[in-house]
Amino acid sequence: MKTKRVLITGAAGFLGSHLCDRFIKEGYHVIAMDNLITGDLQNIQHLFGLENFEFAHHDVSKYVYVSGELDYILHFASPASPIDYLKIPIQTLKVGSLGTHNLLGLAKNKNARMLIASTSEVYGDPSVNPQPEEYWGNVNPVGPRGVYDEAKRFQEAMTMAYHTFHGLETRIVRIFNTYGPRMRLNDGRVLPAFIGQALRGEDLTVFGDGSQTRSFCYVDDLIEGIYRLLLSDYALPVNIGNPDEITIRQFGEEIIKLTGTSQKLVLKDLPVDDPKQRRPDITKARAILGWEPKVSRAEGLKITYEYFKSLPQEALTNKEH
Ligand code: NAD
Ligand code: UDP
Repeated sequence: MKTKRVLITGAAGFLGSHLCDRFIKEGYHVIAMDNLITGDLQNIQHLFGLENFEFAHHDVSKYVYVSGELDYILHFASPASPIDYLKIPIQTLKVGSLGTHNLLGLAKNKNARMLIASTSEVYGDPSVNPQPEEYWGNVNPVGPRGVYDEAKRFQEAMTMAYHTFHGLETRIVRIFNTYGPRMRLNDGRVLPAFIGQALRGEDLTVFGDGSQTRSFCYVDDLIEGIYRLLLSDYALPVNIGNPDEITIRQFGEEIIKLTGTSQKLVLKDLPVDDPKQRRPDITKARAILGWEPKVSRAEGLKITYEYFKSLPQEALTNKEH
């Protein structure tokens, strides 16, 4: 049988690199594309030299060219952490809009199926909990998070338009907070922030009063859900996440216990428009994909902590790493 060919954008990032691993394992030919703006080649270093793996250093907001056939495109390129997209707001808007348009055009040319990485942020600061896919969201377009949220909402709209008007095969995954090995220790997201602080012997910074909630999904569970969605025939958005909801204060306490640090929680200002609650309704993923998360937070956190502990000392002290 012919080897299937998949293009993965954002391949040197946290999720993109795990997707590369999964598709290589399944026997695909993987074309990994990234401009390394927030990613790190270290995440995919182990794949270089494999016959069925190639890397292209490219900004997908500019015209994208790939030679040969393509069966699938997975568009994961985008800054994803609030401190990243606040630092590079224009690039964030461009990769979600122009980048998505370029890749949809490529998918149309190659007659490939395209899956886009959307996000729970399309629900903004939600007024319903848990969030089903039918909820339209509560987003402030001109607030600091608007650059990410609106880029992702536009990305969904553009993708649906290609599906409806060009008959392109498309899939939309709405990813909820995901964690695991290869997150950047200094990417500002709450899990690397807390573990980094514990490892450096600093207090853990809880934003606001810590009563806001999130629901954390282990990366292997997410990748399984994405793989199933890609191979399904369902074109409307599907939430993939772990519904086990926790307050950020409780989460900080769990990290203190896990790491055995003698440090404590300290309260800092809550960022503007920080969502108060977030929990996926995964009824659709269960029914359509037969998917649900398998890894408990206790197990996933242990694996992730071991990963961060195994990094060289410079990774801990180097704020740019
Ligand atoms: P990440 O920052 O680790 O990875 C993103 C990758 O995209 C990086 O390697 C970066 O260099 C690359 N990139 C950014 N702009 C690019 C461009 N213009 N051209 C080429 N490459 C570019 O982030 P992540 O957590 O792996 O997130 C990956 C995707 O999943 C993003 O689209 C994000 O919005 C989505 N997502 C992630 C989460 C999560 O919890 N991790 C939740 C919801 C959605
Ligand atoms: N947060 C925190 N301390 C930190 C980093 C984040 O209390 O050092 C909070 C943040 O305000 C938010 C939650 O943790 O309420 C999750 O933040 P993250 O940036 O990981 O993801 P997102 O807000 O995009 O869900």
